[in-house]
Amino acid sequence: MPISGTTKLLGIIGDPVEHSMSPDMHNRAIVELGLDYVYVPFPVKPDDLGAAMTGFAAIGVVGLNATIPHKQTVIPYLDVITPAAQAIGAVNTIWRSDRGWEGTNTDVTGFLAPLHDRAAHHPEIQRCFERPMVVLGHGGAARAVVAGASQLGCPLVHVVGRTPDKVESFVRSWDNSPIAINLQAHSFHDLAVLLPEAGIIVNSTPLGMHPHTQQSPLSDELADRISSDTIAYDLIYTPSPTLFLQQAQRQGAIAIDGLEMLVRQGAAAFELWTGQTPPIATMRQALRERLGLA
Ligand code: NAP
Repeated sequence: MPISGTTKLLGIIGDPVEHSMSPDMHNRAIVELGLDYVYVPFPVKPDDLGAAMTGFAAIGVVGLNATIPHKQTVIPYLDVITPAAQAIGAVNTIWRSDRGWEGTNTDVTGFLAPLHDRAAHHPEIQRCFERPMVVLGHGGAARAVVAGASQLGCPLVHVVGRTPDKVESFVRSWDNSPIAINLQAHSFHDLAVLLPEAGIIVNSTPLGMHPHTQQSPLSDELADRISSDTIAYDLIYTPSPTLFLQQAQRQGAIAIDGLEMLVRQGAAAFELWTGQTPPIATMRQALRERLGLA
């Protein structure tokens, strides 16, 4: 990738950011399309965020991803934020325009992409979208999932967590939101009743993520309650399949892991920054290689 005086700067801000896979994915896409961009990891400490954003503007950075711990705290430094990102309360993609820094959240696009892809080939899957969704966990990723459920037209989302106060406050945080969605708070004890009716079950907890591959948010007994006509979606991408997805597959359910979400949130950001159609297969391959899957 030749870098010259005209090369446009993209990057990711995080702390830590050394292990981010986004540079692999975006630089491969840049090379594939022969674009004059480079994507760089920028380690930014929380106290330095304001100075960093001012500095990025000064040196003409054209686009950024934000990751932990900056997804929420970067919002005050943005001049424009999309309604979806506002409702989610987190931004993962930032770009410079004549209005200043603009931000959005492409995790929703990423979450929805594999569901839409499958529905395009198997239209009967859309019936899963018409049944209640069960979301395990209520952190940052769950917020993108809830926004996605609204776009899918899910009639109801059951949010399940281990701390009742936290689940209740997550559900209440969507009151008066521009995102229309019907939410109910639950404990894990309610799952025996909720799972058989669910069209989509999403694991948005870290349970089962490498190296804790023997963990699952569901006991085997609970997993037996999953119907065969259900989509089990794990936001975790390593390992694949997780124990949760293996449990669901044993029930005959459709299993989706988190890799495609990661690829497609990146692809959506790439398109926003460059205006080019992202080379999705190349981006997916870059991540698979980085994860040792290809
Ligand atoms: P987060 O903000 O820390 O939220 C984690 C959620 O999981 C919280 O609700 C937490 O509940 C719950 N949880 C954690 N440990 C638990 C346990 N032992 N039992 C029950 N619940 C537990 O994390 P996040 O950013 O939302 O990420 C969640 C997962 O999604 C991670 O595995 C992450 O890698 C993955 N992710 C994937 C993508 C992708 O592109 N594929 C994107 C974003 C995130 P408490 O508050 O009660 O602890």
